[in-house]
Amino acid sequence: MRSLPVLSLQARGHELASPAAQRAALARAGAPAFEEVLARHGRAPLEAHAIEVLQVNVGKLCNQACAHCHVDAGPDRREVMTRETADQVVELLQRHPEIPTLDVTGGAPELNPQFRYLVAEASALGRRVVDRCNLSVLLLPSQRDLVGFLKDHRVEVTASLPSFRASGTDAQRGDGVFAKSLDALRLLNEAGYGRGEGLVLNLVHNPVGSFLPGDQASLERDYKRELQLRHGIVFDRLYTITNMPISRFLEHIERSGNLHRYMELLVSAFNPVAADGVMCRTYLSVGWDGTLYDCDFNQMLEMPTNHGAPRTLGALLAADTVVPRQVVTDRHCFGCTAGAGSTCAGAVAEGARTPRR
Ligand code: SF4
Ligand code: SF4
Repeated sequence: MRSLPVLSLQARGHELASPAAQRAALARAGAPAFEEVLARHGRAPLEAHAIEVLQVNVGKLCNQACAHCHVDAGPDRREVMTRETADQVVELLQRHPEIPTLDVTGGAPELNPQFRYLVAEASALGRRVVDRCNLSVLLLPSQRDLVGFLKDHRVEVTASLPSFRASGTDAQRGDGVFAKSLDALRLLNEAGYGRGEGLVLNLVHNPVGSFLPGDQASLERDYKRELQLRHGIVFDRLYTITNMPISRFLEHIERSGNLHRYMELLVSAFNPVAADGVMCRTYLSVGWDGTLYDCDFNQMLEMPTNHGAPRTLGALLAADTVVPRQVVTDRHCFGCTAGAGSTCAGAVAEGARTPRR
């Protein structure tokens, strides 16, 4: 990877802060239209027929500024969800008991003023609640009681740890982040997380470079062995996630001259089985301002739901249904369908034999 940006693309006034510029860069990289490839494999159009996960991105504010961040999040971002929008999320959950899971993401979602409200309300409604946590946030003085709060509400923690080696994690997330991550994992373990006793702690691996993740099951074994032997840390599952060619990872591969090669890799590794399991089929993504998207990646590219589906929480509450709906796609979608596939819950076609580099 490379030295870490201290500011978001937006704060640096970088051209790729614009979603339109990102999509144009992918088009220039020579990848075919995603829908054409889907059609060739009899998979077009992509459609969602259920909402198994309501994924709410409460904003772009984060205490870190990772090199690969697909959100362009960081300490300089100010977008945060309001109570009015959070109330609409809660109303949606109340009206739709068939949505089993609330998945809260960001930025560092815990820094959003609505985070604890959303978690408490969804948990009181009996929903499974997932916190996408960057770990270091648990060490902030303002968040001293966060682990206890998560434990009290039986929140599932899904935490980013790109590598079980300090060099890999720090290269992507900043100097000293690996050590902080270990401290945070120890806090979670001490609270009972990751010990198979109902407090779920999952880790997320993504490659430290422009290649596909390795086999999820093998990596999980490696992570479990290394973290336990070297650091006494335990966890439940490892999810592997492909680096999406958008935002700051796109900046990195463009600047290092790897954009064409990376897109060729994603396209050549297209896997129809992975396409059957892409998360937009079962997720609905909500932006900090209440706009609806088929997934968090579309959210960052400002590609809201379309094809007649409601585009805001308010419209959805009025219409009362958002499925079935046709998914909005573009070339970045090759990041979800390469190799074993990539979703917020990891690989979907484990064991796929495809080129990684
Ligand atoms: S990758 Fe996660 S922790 Fe890193 S800057 Fe983005 S939102 Fe924050
Ligand atoms: S990027 Fe989003 S819309 Fe595209 S395949 Fe992945 S989950 Fe679906």
